[in-house]
This record gives sequence, C-alpha cells and structure tokens, in this order.
Amino acid sequence: MPLFQKAVFHTTVANLRDVPADAKCEVAFAGRSNAGKSSAINTLANHTRLAYVSKTPGRTQHLNYFTLDEGKYFVDLPGYGFAKAPEEIREQWEGLLAPYLRYRLPLVGLVLIMDSRHPLTELDLQMLGWFAQTGKPIHVLLSKADKLTRQEQALALREVQDVLAGISDHCSLQLFSSLKKTGVAEAEAVLGRWLDMEAKPEIAPPVGLRSEKVARLKNRKAMGWSARSAKPAAGNKKPPTQ
Ligand code: GDP
Repeated sequence: MPLFQKAVFHTTVANLRDVPADAKCEVAFAGRSNAGKSSAINTLANHTRLAYVSKTPGRTQHLNYFTLDEGKYFVDLPGYGFAKAPEEIREQWEGLLAPYLRYRLPLVGLVLIMDSRHPLTELDLQMLGWFAQTGKPIHVLLSKADKLTRQEQALALREVQDVLAGISDHCSLQLFSSLKKTGVAEAEAVLGRWLDMEAKPEIAPPVGLRSEKVARLKNRKAMGWSARSAKPAAGNKKPPTQ
C-alpha cells in the first residue's frame, strides 16, 4: 500500500493562527504554477483529485493541509510565478509564506517541484536560497520526467545537482513523473523518513475458522461431496483432498 494512501483533505488556512494545533510534523510542497505540484501530491497519495482542492477559486492563495496520519500533514503552498500585482505578491509572502516557512516548528522539510524541462527559474532559486537558511532539508522533484529522453534526464539531474550543492548540504533531488508514476518509491523513502512514517507490509485479514469451514463444506457440496460422505467407507478410496 502506498505510504501516503490515507491522505485526506483537512483544512485551508489563510492566516497563520489557523494552522492545525495538533501537528507533530508536516512537509510543505512548493513550486511554480503548472510545475506539476498538484499532480505530484495526488500521485504520492494515490488519489486522482486530492490536491484539486488547492486549485479551487478562493483556495489558491492559501495553505492547504492534507492529513496523512495523526498529527502528520502535507501542506500545499500556493504556486508561484503567475503574473500578479507586486503588492499582492509581497503581501502574501510577508503575511503568510515567509513566516510559515521560517517559524513553523512542525515543518520538517520542503519539497520543491520543478519542471524537469525548465528547472531553476529565478523564483525557484529565490525559494531555494531562502528556505536553505532555515537549515531544514529540501527535496527537489524534477517533474514530468517522462517528457525527457534518458540522456536529457541524466543531464537535468547533473545540472540541478551542481546548483543545489552550492546552495545547501541538505538538498536532495530525483526525477519524478506523475504520468508514468515513476520516482514514487524514492520520494516515499525521503518523505517517510522526514515524517517518521514507514511503509508497512500488507497484512492479510485474518480468516475466521468458522467461515473457512463453511467455505470448505460448500466447496465439497459443489464437487458432489457432503460433510457426511467425506468419511471414506472402508475399502473406498480417500476423497480428493482440496
Ligand atoms: P501545478 O499547477 O503545479 O499544481 O501543476 P499540475 O499538477 O496541475 O500540472 C500542470 C500540467 O502538467 C497539467 O496539465 C498536468 O496534466 C501536467 N503534468 C503534471 N505532471 C505531469 C507528468 O508527470 N507528466 C506529464 N507529461 N504531464 C504532467
């Protein structure tokens, strides 16, 4: 079962005083609008429309919280890069995003989604440089990797890795494709570690002895055997075992 399969929408927050008080740890997702952030959250949660809520009018400029487990959250930050009035951008940054990213104690790390074909835009670099100062880790998803050839993927990884190495020691990166569902296990490993969540092996539901017996009898009847006749008469051959 995917690690974040239980993710459900929790709340939308426009003001820092409204962030969940029970949070033990949370991971924030940032990126340019259209970079593939909502698709990446949906893919990690194995849910087609979970992060759709972040795109509904009135919620695009807020923090959208998704519960993963008790006290553990994904936080979808507003996508950046859409032409907005400078005043509006400044207000949003100073009023909500900057204090959230800098002072939110349960925030354990940032996932930055960059389109693998156009990584490291000016705003991405600003976000990276700024968040790196908190000392918390950053994991970069180079999204839409399915649009690159293997050679281009290797080149993108190398180029971005070089830049990240100059920004912080706490940066990691990987290729990701929501379309092909590639890179999911790699991302789960990083985020699971940050959030102290481990993928649990699937456990088969216990089968009650009674229901097992009933099923066996039904099966015998279907094969022309009844429970009574299951006992072989002396000299008879044993009934076929199932
Ligand atoms: P957001 O604005 O960052 O949340 O971006 P979305 O998740 O809405 O994705 C923007 C566009 O990119 C949509 O048309 C998606 O279908 C497309 N997209 C997202 N992820 C992938 C991917 O892995 N591969 C491809 N080929 N397209 C993708």
